[in-house]
Amino acid sequence: MPYGYNGKILRVNLSTKEVKVEEHDDYFYRTYMGGAVLGAYYLLREMKLGVDPFDPEALIVFAPSILTGTPAPGFSRHSVVCKSPLTQAIADSQAGGFWGPELKFAGYDAIVVKGKASEPVYLWISDGEAQIREASHLWGKTTGETQTSLREELRDDKIRVLAIGVAGEKLVRFACILNECKHANGRLGMGAVMGSKNLKAIAVRGHDKIKMQDKDTVIKWAKWFSQNFMDNPSNAGLHDLGTGEGLMVLNKDGQLPTRNFQTGFFEGAEGISAETMHRTIFQKGEGCYACPVKCKRVVGADKPYQIDPFYGGPEYETLAALGSDCGVSDLVSVAKANELCNKYGLDTISTGATIAFAMECYENGIIAKEDTKGIQLNFGNADAMVKMVEQIAKREGMGDILAEGTKRAAERFGKGAEKFAIQVKGEEMGMHDGRVKGMVGFGYAVSPIGADHVVVEHDTDFDFNAPDIFVEQMKSLGLLKRCKTTGMDYQKLRMFRYLQFHFSFMDSLCLCVLAFAPVRTFTMAHLVAIASAVTGWEMSLWEIMKLGERRINMFRAFNIREGFTPDDDWLPQRIFEPIKTGPREGARYDPDELKTMRKLYYKIMNWDPETSIPTKAKLIDLDLPWIIDELEKVGKSVR
Ligand code: SF4
Repeated sequence: MPYGYNGKILRVNLSTKEVKVEEHDDYFYRTYMGGAVLGAYYLLREMKLGVDPFDPEALIVFAPSILTGTPAPGFSRHSVVCKSPLTQAIADSQAGGFWGPELKFAGYDAIVVKGKASEPVYLWISDGEAQIREASHLWGKTTGETQTSLREELRDDKIRVLAIGVAGEKLVRFACILNECKHANGRLGMGAVMGSKNLKAIAVRGHDKIKMQDKDTVIKWAKWFSQNFMDNPSNAGLHDLGTGEGLMVLNKDGQLPTRNFQTGFFEGAEGISAETMHRTIFQKGEGCYACPVKCKRVVGADKPYQIDPFYGGPEYETLAALGSDCGVSDLVSVAKANELCNKYGLDTISTGATIAFAMECYENGIIAKEDTKGIQLNFGNADAMVKMVEQIAKREGMGDILAEGTKRAAERFGKGAEKFAIQVKGEEMGMHDGRVKGMVGFGYAVSPIGADHVVVEHDTDFDFNAPDIFVEQMKSLGLLKRCKTTGMDYQKLRMFRYLQFHFSFMDSLCLCVLAFAPVRTFTMAHLVAIASAVTGWEMSLWEIMKLGERRINMFRAFNIREGFTPDDDWLPQRIFEPIKTGPREGARYDPDELKTMRKLYYKIMNWDPETSIPTKAKLIDLDLPWIIDELEKVGKSVR
């Protein structure tokens, strides 16, 4: 009898309206485990080379993991995996909330969707039964209206709804997917892939709890977490102020992305800080399934904009992307933009970064008032920023070009606009400056999914000012020394590799990085104990780290197959230029160092140092020999 997983994966073909159940054995679940790795398995096996993300033949996989839905904090997430319309590379994006656990309670470990419905549809999954249902009445609706309408229609207000908004329907390349209207599979355009399939929503309801081999142990550690998380400095801060707790610290240190990464010090930072939020528009903290940290914010306001608390509140990345990066210091405007992003289904990071890019183009005469239909798109114009969010979601006016993302918009604008596009592989950079945090910058360059800030734990957590507990908790990975913050060296390269595997297994087991070591409450030992108690397998940190390495190699193999090369593992020009002002004035990423470290990275990953193709030996080591055939079939030489 399996523990942790149901043994059932739902296969849906929207073109043929076929719904069937696929079953796998214990070997499959112990090798791929869920989330990003499970999604990559289906993409590599079944998606043909060169298929466009919007082609009906493209796959999109919704996957929690073998541990999702267990009653321990931080086990609530699910991944969505597809080929990204923003980057044309493999993409995975995780969301917290309640949807992943509910899918498990409804009897499924994942949903693999392909095809395109002839009319808008939604999926309804209830206690093992799955149906494709007509959704014309939902098309054009906000995520909130969609959720409300489905709960009324299905007569159950406990149904968990994952939905796209108008941005996904209009194929905005960074449209996202929301559950509970505030938990987002935010990055890389998953919402547009759903939109291209005419799939508006997936509603789930289940009454079976997860079967665990040793439930008492899991409950014991869940209780321990609840009693102790406030002793951890990071979790206490997240509980009290949310993810925005570090914004003022970053600003003081000169690393808060400001005016499209021109500088790292924002004179208006106080206005958009978590402390200001708490004094003014904050209503309450909320969390994900079984988590007492409750790091999510709920905000409300009447003036100058009405903010609907139903859509949550801005997190750090949103405060920076739609705030400092656009030069906007008015919190209510940022909160309004956040609400619109959640209503329409837009990634707040790419939305803010794209508007910041357009603002710099505007200030440098690359686009003019005639192009923006009279909107003065200067940095600091909060009203213009909010208007642009609306226009991007609906693909109106200038928003139609910006909806393509900064890389494509820069190509369209010409006149040197590409130097203002702060992106890697087409994905807009997360709101952390690689010129200050060397491992984060390196991660932006070599990550298979693009410039994502959640591919490695950040340098500042282990530098010479970091709390002792973070450095202590890292030691079980064999990482024993603190590091410098900026740049890379041999020690940091080794550290990057291990911490990248760590973040990679988090995305594969669908764990929340805000609940686990090295920086947060649960230690590596807790993870191993809980994973073993849930599954009944005698698991080890070695096995779990190998899962993380497996994900990185599968993702690399997918991209290699699609034609990506080491040239794509690079940073935008701005990161090689010195920060203009503030405490970090002059800091820059050295391109020669990047080139050297990149080659060394390929070598320690056991990839071909010239092509970055995983070697035969590495693929065999990771129990992925079938990928050798997949690559050789399309003419890639695996040595
Ligand atoms: S720490 Fe925050 S994001 Fe993570 S599971 Fe808890 S409430 Fe959700």
